Amino acid sequence: MQTTQTIAAIATALTNSGIGIIRVSGEDSLEIMDQIFRPEKKDLKLSECKGYTVHYGHIEENGEVIDEVLVMVMRAPHSYTTENTAEIDCHGGVLVMKRILQAVLNHGARLAEPGEFTKRAFLGGRIDLSQAEAVMDLIEAKNDYAMESSIAQLRGTLSEKIRKLREKILYETAFIETALDDPEHISLDGYPEKLRSRLLPLIAEMKEAEKNFGSGRVIREGIKTVILGKPNVGKSSLMNALLGEERAIVTDIAGTTRDTLEENLRVRGISLNIIDTAGIRDTDNTVEKIGVEKARDLVEKADLILYLIDGSKELDDNDREIIEMIRDRKCIVILNKTDLDLKITQERAEQETGQYVIPVSAKEKTGIEKIEDRIEEMFLSGGIDFNDEVVITNVRHQNAVREAKNSLEMVVRSIDDGMPEDFFTIDLMNAYEQLGTILGEELGDDLANEIFARFCMGK
Ligand code: GDP
Repeated sequence: MQTTQTIAAIATALTNSGIGIIRVSGEDSLEIMDQIFRPEKKDLKLSECKGYTVHYGHIEENGEVIDEVLVMVMRAPHSYTTENTAEIDCHGGVLVMKRILQAVLNHGARLAEPGEFTKRAFLGGRIDLSQAEAVMDLIEAKNDYAMESSIAQLRGTLSEKIRKLREKILYETAFIETALDDPEHISLDGYPEKLRSRLLPLIAEMKEAEKNFGSGRVIREGIKTVILGKPNVGKSSLMNALLGEERAIVTDIAGTTRDTLEENLRVRGISLNIIDTAGIRDTDNTVEKIGVEKARDLVEKADLILYLIDGSKELDDNDREIIEMIRDRKCIVILNKTDLDLKITQERAEQETGQYVIPVSAKEKTGIEKIEDRIEEMFLSGGIDFNDEVVITNVRHQNAVREAKNSLEMVVRSIDDGMPEDFFTIDLMNAYEQLGTILGEELGDDLANEIFARFCMGK
């Protein structure tokens, strides 16, 4: 892979805006800039400027002025990519940005691939792979928690934990290898037991991280939520009540089919992705009408079920069907229409459903806060401290941790079976390598390309 060729891309959004930035990175970036930048200060050359300096002037090509700009100079290795970098701060018109980019390309740079700047930061050793991935997560963060977790990962909290685990594993491998090489001086008597007691906490830590993955994913992607209940029980009204003042940020993720229609709403900074809102809109979302299978499927897919009971009516077969389905699922049972004469008390509803029941009136917007409290409690019990826990939000990391944990469990099994020590090292090294993939060590080109291709242009 040739990393020295200079690359360029528009780094800001391709819409008309106040300011646009064109980023140029690579060995020749400043020399290329000198060919098209006419500085206000006559004899100034960007290729001779110090890093972290800003220069005023014009971008010109073939004697024609394209725009008035500021150029920021960063010198290797003190830049995002670790290479010489220029950032052209121009007026944010789409045409202007494209013309400047074209001028840079005409003078020797090539168009950057998506994520290529970050890839260079990774290849230049400034960040590891988990940090590179955090950059993308940060850009894509849809809620406060997702943002906080990516910032923590970007700062290296996950990498540090993984490195510590790896160090411990490597230490044991090295010890076994040395002892096997030099049995006269280093004895392995009683060592397997010691190793066992040292591995168990590591396995426990990995298990914990695996368990956290669920909430990590939920935080990043939002909670897949299904609202169940008979027609006219108040599902749409509840959604509107939960939307509250935040209506403006609601987005319809327009699906091609009715099934994939999703609506995103935020509760205390947590995203709820309400699935099958189409069903709700059509007031069609009853077990009777959509079929037990479909409802079961929705329940199966959901991280959270909001089940509404109409307090002004007796429970019917529809309700009983749902109650059966939601047993043992993460569910909030809501007794709606408490502003009317109640046919069902909270106590009765709790007996029937076997779950804690929250009385609300979607119409008068009472009790809505209790639902929000409960969601917060269920998904962020005690809050998540991104600095202390290993929070895994990425499937790739999740798989690596699971593989590593399996390998360590194999070591423990070998110890229990009284296998010889050189058996341990194979699985120890396996665990070590698996954890290494999180940091991007022993990373194949294919995977690297796949990961960085998911980035946006100019990042
Ligand atoms: P959905 O079919 O489950 O989506 O139900 P809707 O939200 O469309 O509500 C059906 C009807 O019940 C509407 O006329 C609402 O105004 C009414 N409704 C919803 N929630 C309440 C409530 O808490 N109290 C009362 N009195 N009426 C409600």
